[in-house]
Amino acid sequence: MVPELSVVIPMYNEEEVLPLLVERLRPLLDGMGTSYEVVAVDDGSRDLTAALLQRYHREWPALRVVRLRANAGHQAAISAGLVSALGDYVVTIDADLQDPPEIIPRMLAAARDDGVDVVYGVRNDRSTDTWFKRVSAQAFYKLIGLMSQTPAHADAGDYRLMSRATVDAINSLPEHNRVLRFIVPALNFPSDTVEYKREERAAGDSKYPLLKMVKLSLDSLTGFSTAPLRLATFAGFGGAVLAVLLVLYTLISRSQGHTVAGWTSTVAIVAGVGAVQLVCVGILGEYIGRMYGHMQGRPTYFIAYDSMTADSGAHGPTDTPLPAQPNGAAIRTAPGATEPVAEPGHAPEPQPSQLRG
Ligand code: UDP
Ligand code: MG
Repeated sequence: MVPELSVVIPMYNEEEVLPLLVERLRPLLDGMGTSYEVVAVDDGSRDLTAALLQRYHREWPALRVVRLRANAGHQAAISAGLVSALGDYVVTIDADLQDPPEIIPRMLAAARDDGVDVVYGVRNDRSTDTWFKRVSAQAFYKLIGLMSQTPAHADAGDYRLMSRATVDAINSLPEHNRVLRFIVPALNFPSDTVEYKREERAAGDSKYPLLKMVKLSLDSLTGFSTAPLRLATFAGFGGAVLAVLLVLYTLISRSQGHTVAGWTSTVAIVAGVGAVQLVCVGILGEYIGRMYGHMQGRPTYFIAYDSMTADSGAHGPTDTPLPAQPNGAAIRTAPGATEPVAEPGHAPEPQPSQLRG
């Protein structure tokens, strides 16, 4: 049976926080009056997380355990959870209770009532984050915003609810090392936000050392911007202008007899060849950027509704997706959107959604 709600939780060495999480999450989900599953993704933990999960799974059948063979990282663990999740709506949430699970009913209500595909959890108070984390996050989001046109919310992390259509869209992307907090806004599907206060980690230590944060930043930058590849082009053109000025200067110096033999030609050659090389590297960069965009394979659109398939009743929320289009992907619409086949008036307006590359 397909549950209405899946809660995906990546976990890496979370033995300390796990009992607290179960204690808080289970009554909440049981009390929501909706069918659900919890997909706990054990990201290759080396502590007792795996054993504890197995124990909780026995007494709480709605808790599914997906174990990765090796530590793959936060984003990869969420991706694994998204592929495994069955629900019509999928919430991703960290295990450490920094993001209060009590917001989940509000997220689900917002998605159901407003018919949106994504509900972002947005932190309205980050006072529990360290000064370093706040400042570095702010600078980082500014930079990404400047270099790519991705409309990511600076205070939204990976606490969000997504419709089945959104999860299918993400699962259909072939790119590696994707950073979901930028991928999801880049889909540009209809969305809402729900505010919450970020709390302290309930137990244990952060599993995000500086090195992992740097990797996340690099993945975000290179995944969403080819601007660094353009650096050589700009430097090359700047260098070319400089080379022309330099050559002029050396010629004038030479005509006035201020130079030693060989200086003029040496400077001219060094400046000229340097500029030509940079421009060539820049040209290579332009082509590599194009190939990279192609390899990422992000569809330029997602079809939300097609009256033909809706009329034939061929596509309920649990059917397989429509065949992919050459340049886009036909993804199931939000849960409920294709259900009222008998009442076409309830079907949503076609929503052309652009994925900016
Ligand atoms: N996590 C993971 N794999 C990793 C690192 C972290 O699955 O390699 C999980 C971790 O268990 C937690 C979430 O990702 O549920 C966020 O990690 P953490 O809370 O340590 O990050 P922070 O809040 O300090 O940035
Ligand atoms: Mg945390």
